[in-house]
Amino acid sequence: MRTITLIIIHCSATREGKRYTAEDCKLDHIGHKHCTDIGYHFYIEKDGKKVEGRPIEQVGAHCLHHNSHSIGICLEGGYNKDGEPADTRTGAQMITLMELLSELKEQYPHALIVGHYELNPEKPCPCFDVSEYRQLFP
Ligand SMILES: [Zn+2]
Repeated sequence: MRTITLIIIHCSATREGKRYTAEDCKLDHIGHKHCTDIGYHFYIEKDGKKVEGRPIEQVGAHCLHHNSHSIGICLEGGYNKDGEPADTRTGAQMITLMELLSELKEQYPHALIVGHYELNPEKPCPCFDVSEYRQLFP
């Protein structure tokens, strides 16, 4: 069993009005990052659909220096129409994320919920305030 200390939230850096499904993401990770699978453990599409990526027992590929001890969740979206970082979460995505975090915190009560930007300040990812979730699921 891996020790999980972090639940890291990401966005796919996709512009508003554009789609980038879990399958698109998986193909990109396999093609460009030379992964054998999607780098995240969960992917939440704009319609709220939760897609399971890598099994949690497997180390992901989503956050430099923090993959070995984390779970990676990615939300489709994150950029506005002009390609600037923006909170593009849909209501359906928010509901799915809440459910997922609640489940994961039951399984991993000591894991801290963080945004990618908190581990790498050069990234805006996931382009919304993740501390809200940390307050809800401390
Ligand atoms: Zn990220």
